[in-house]
Amino acid sequence: MPEAVPVVPRPAVNGTGAQPPAQGEVVDAVVIGAGFGGLYAVHHLTTNGFSVRGFEVGGGVGGTWYWNRYPGARCDIESVEYSYSFSEELQQEWTWTQRYPEQPELLAYIEHVADRFDLRRHFTFETRVESAVFDEETDCWTVTTDAGEQVRTRFVVTAVGCLSSSRIPDFPGLDRFQGRAVHTGRWPHEGVDFTGQRVALIGTGSSGIQSLPLIAEQAAHVTVFQRTPNFSISGANQPLDPEQVRDVKEHYAEYRDQARRSFGGSMIRTNRVSVFAVTEEERRAQFEARWKMGGFAFMAAFEDLGTDLAANALAAEFVSEKIRRVVHDPEIAERLIPTDHPIGSKRICVDTGYFETFNRDDVTLVDVKHTPIEEITETGVKVAGQVHEVDVIVFATGFDAMTGSLLRMDIRGRGGLTLREKWAAGPRTYLGLGTAGFPNLFTITGPGSPAVLSNVVLAVEQHVEWIVDCMQHMQAAGLATIEAEVDAEDDWVEHVNQAADRTLYKQANSWYLGANVPGKPRVFMPYAGGVGRYRKRCDQVAAEGYRGFRLEPAAPGDVGTSGHRTAGALAGS
Ligand code: NAP
Repeated sequence: MPEAVPVVPRPAVNGTGAQPPAQGEVVDAVVIGAGFGGLYAVHHLTTNGFSVRGFEVGGGVGGTWYWNRYPGARCDIESVEYSYSFSEELQQEWTWTQRYPEQPELLAYIEHVADRFDLRRHFTFETRVESAVFDEETDCWTVTTDAGEQVRTRFVVTAVGCLSSSRIPDFPGLDRFQGRAVHTGRWPHEGVDFTGQRVALIGTGSSGIQSLPLIAEQAAHVTVFQRTPNFSISGANQPLDPEQVRDVKEHYAEYRDQARRSFGGSMIRTNRVSVFAVTEEERRAQFEARWKMGGFAFMAAFEDLGTDLAANALAAEFVSEKIRRVVHDPEIAERLIPTDHPIGSKRICVDTGYFETFNRDDVTLVDVKHTPIEEITETGVKVAGQVHEVDVIVFATGFDAMTGSLLRMDIRGRGGLTLREKWAAGPRTYLGLGTAGFPNLFTITGPGSPAVLSNVVLAVEQHVEWIVDCMQHMQAAGLATIEAEVDAEDDWVEHVNQAADRTLYKQANSWYLGANVPGKPRVFMPYAGGVGRYRKRCDQVAAEGYRGFRLEPAAPGDVGTSGHRTAGALAGS
């Protein structure tokens, strides 16, 4: 048995953050991504004395909110909830202005966090991680960037986001288009002036639904190309009432605790009553009250809307009626009403004036379900033999979700196995945090975790805290590697499937299932068992000595088994 050694070389813990390591050093962790997850990972790791290098493709911090700058981009979770809880001072000093924060306010918040905790110095921006290769001899990863830099590290922590690989479908003729083409998820920083422009908007998911009303206000004409209509509920957005903010701040600890133990990671309370247990009048009143609240609160009107098709149909009918009432042209209204999936089985869109926009004379709806887009021509979008001539095409066509950004990197674990090979039939993880064959690789909000079905900020905090606790445990116990066991992973994958089977999620062709990417395995990727239950499970696994993970001390002959391993010594090996 080799002598127990610290798993990672640790600089002195002074509580003020470790210094960024110099080039060529071996670090404790490489963190990939500078969005909500990556920033907190770097903060929590460094304040606990671990040395870190962070890499980020973007030119600044913010992740989703760095890239998604399209008009109308805003969060669908309330601002007072969609924010970090790890620092009481931060919670108290930051004051949100709107119920649902807009992208500029969100980005300002994240930039404030980066400055307040001095996090930028740990990151190299405008740099993509191309590969991460595990060396079984040294229990070390080598991370290589597109700038050609190589960093050796004990741990790799991916914080690449679940909706970060934007996707433009392979429309024939795309390259020929002479006008401007933009994707909502890679919006130009200088903005796009639509004044006097004829615009094609392709895609009617959250991004299309949020951007349409604002684009329509500016443009000469907007043609909306809709393949599948979506359920959308007004966010009833408004400036925040200072009284409410005061109350939230006063009781933040309590509210956060409630959110952490909830199903969806927010303070929305589900009415624990079946829709069939009330009279029709009571049902309407409840739906109406929830509708007025706006946003996701609607789906919490009754406890069985997400699990029982007949219950769900009542909710869908209520929303369909609302659409019919708003949209003046009955034929257009019917085309905007979803009929192919239960309400909530795709993430509900939260909008501001979406359906109303179809009452404008300068907005046209084109169905591309029955007559798909044939091609993009030099001058526009061709459907059913007709070219819709435009100056700008806005692609609101979504993302290669949850696995896209992970699999874009060449990640190689034991025996040279690539993550792409391992996940060829769909992602397989244990708790969404690790995957067998890839020691010391942690995936923040990885597939198999509930992140995308919840308030992602609290979700990343939970993952980061679990990971750092684990690394501290390993350090204290002299362990070198942690790796998911195949059996535990198999059980978890099955459990994730069963949890989804108890819901209506699988009845929609959504990005949760990879259905929006041709050829992607159809696997329900998020954990639908609820945030509270998931957190308990993760804590329990840790409390039981990381049950389901194999923890190993450094092997004899490995670099660093001297008991005096230092970053420099490891680097020189
Ligand atoms: P999305 O929900 O995947 O929507 C993409 C849209 O593009 C769909 O309407 C899709 O139609 C359409 N599309 C894709 N390929 C097409 C093709 N070949 N021809 C015609 N139409 C095509 O993407 P998203 O709107 O960017 O939203 C993704 C997720 O990001 C959301 O579910 C949400 O979780 C998050 N998001 C949140 C907010 C927010 O409110 N905070 C805002 C934006 C995004 P089909 O449905 O037929 O595939």
